[in-house]
Amino acid sequence: MTEFRAETPDARQPSRRAVLGAGVGLLAGAGLARGVGARRVERGPGRARNVIFLVADGMSIGTFTIADMVMRQRSGGGPDAGSAWARLWGMPGVRRSMMSTRAADSLVTDSAAGGSAWGCGRRLTNGSICFDAQAGEIEPILVTAKRAGKSTGLVSTARITHATPASFVATVPSRNMERIIAEQELARGVDVLLGGGAKFFPDDLLAAHPDVEVVRDAASMRRAAASSGRLLGLFSDDHMSYELDRGDAEPHLREMSMLAIERLSRNPEGFVLQIEAGRVDHGGHANDFPAMLHDMIAFEETIEAVSKWAMARDDTLVIITTDHGNGGPELTVYKEDSYRAIETLLACRHTLSWMLGQLRSTPREEWPSGFRELVAQHAGVTLSDEEVEWALRPIRGERAHGFGEANTLVCSVGAVMANHFGVGFVSDNHTAEHVEATAIGPGAEALPHRIENYELHALMVNAMALA
Ligand SMILES: [Zn+2]
Repeated sequence: MTEFRAETPDARQPSRRAVLGAGVGLLAGAGLARGVGARRVERGPGRARNVIFLVADGMSIGTFTIADMVMRQRSGGGPDAGSAWARLWGMPGVRRSMMSTRAADSLVTDSAAGGSAWGCGRRLTNGSICFDAQAGEIEPILVTAKRAGKSTGLVSTARITHATPASFVATVPSRNMERIIAEQELARGVDVLLGGGAKFFPDDLLAAHPDVEVVRDAASMRRAAASSGRLLGLFSDDHMSYELDRGDAEPHLREMSMLAIERLSRNPEGFVLQIEAGRVDHGGHANDFPAMLHDMIAFEETIEAVSKWAMARDDTLVIITTDHGNGGPELTVYKEDSYRAIETLLACRHTLSWMLGQLRSTPREEWPSGFRELVAQHAGVTLSDEEVEWALRPIRGERAHGFGEANTLVCSVGAVMANHFGVGFVSDNHTAEHVEATAIGPGAEALPHRIENYELHALMVNAMALA
């Protein structure tokens, strides 16, 4: 690590070679800074063989709430209706906490600092992945787990090199160093990697890791289920599609997660797995509630399957949470409009992001009529002339919102669609809200009712008695 810092006077811009070299040191357990944060988390008896960490990235409480309502409506009510996450809260031994999300330099965190708080136990600056300008690299939990003989895995619907999965295994000063993150993920022996981001795994990198089996669609992932050894699933060049826009070639989050668990649980020493519904966050940035809703429901379906697996045994700690809110969506219309809004959301056949993508391939002068047609066709919504005019103001350079942070095209489209979806957003940024954290299984008893995000790291490490 000394060499790492010596080579790079500006610690924020180390050479690629230096970071990769540091990665080799990490695997060998060379003198690394260790995470702190055990302050209020009591040391447990170390009864957890496995940890499964589930993240709905960028999940505001409004996202959770509306998904719960939609799931209830779809299933017609009853005891098994609604959020699988919420149903867990009534079960014996399940602990809940309200968690802070802030970063070292911002009350509003990004996913790099948010994920690293869990991954390495420190509150870092936005953009950093288990890397601090003073301390250098800080050992991420998958590296610690690997040294203890455990298997490790990352599953995400975002690029598998994106900030949240990266924060459990990589150590880079900038989340944008995704090519290096890909190299670290392979060099640090992650056993199962399933998600998007194929563009960061070029042939020469894959050739350097001939022990890793690579699959590129759902069918080949299923065929690989019976094999053993390391598995890398790259189902998209970039992020995987939103659930609502996804075809059959890309697997769903639940299937990827259960395949990872089946594979990792063959190791008698146990495993650590992070599962991320990465695109709930992207729907927030896009003020695209249909996108958020269906990715959130896919996360709920994953919770249902994973918690069922874990609760049938006594050796697995499951943590379910989010790294921060995003957009702060809320259903905010009354009476019959509130019910109609849910119906309209459910009738949506594509995300707003997909519709805007279609629009972007057409000339600007055709956008008003094109937007109106796309929304009618894929969302079943008839927009007025005034609504179309409002929605597209930012592309004409006109102000569409008094709040500067919301004065963007996606915010103006989102605001106009709120007349029909009933869901308004506060901006297209992350939010500072405290979030829910749920823990089940051995070690869950150490979860206090109020927790700082970085303290979850100690909770996991203690539960598994990792050194
Ligand atoms: Zn985000």
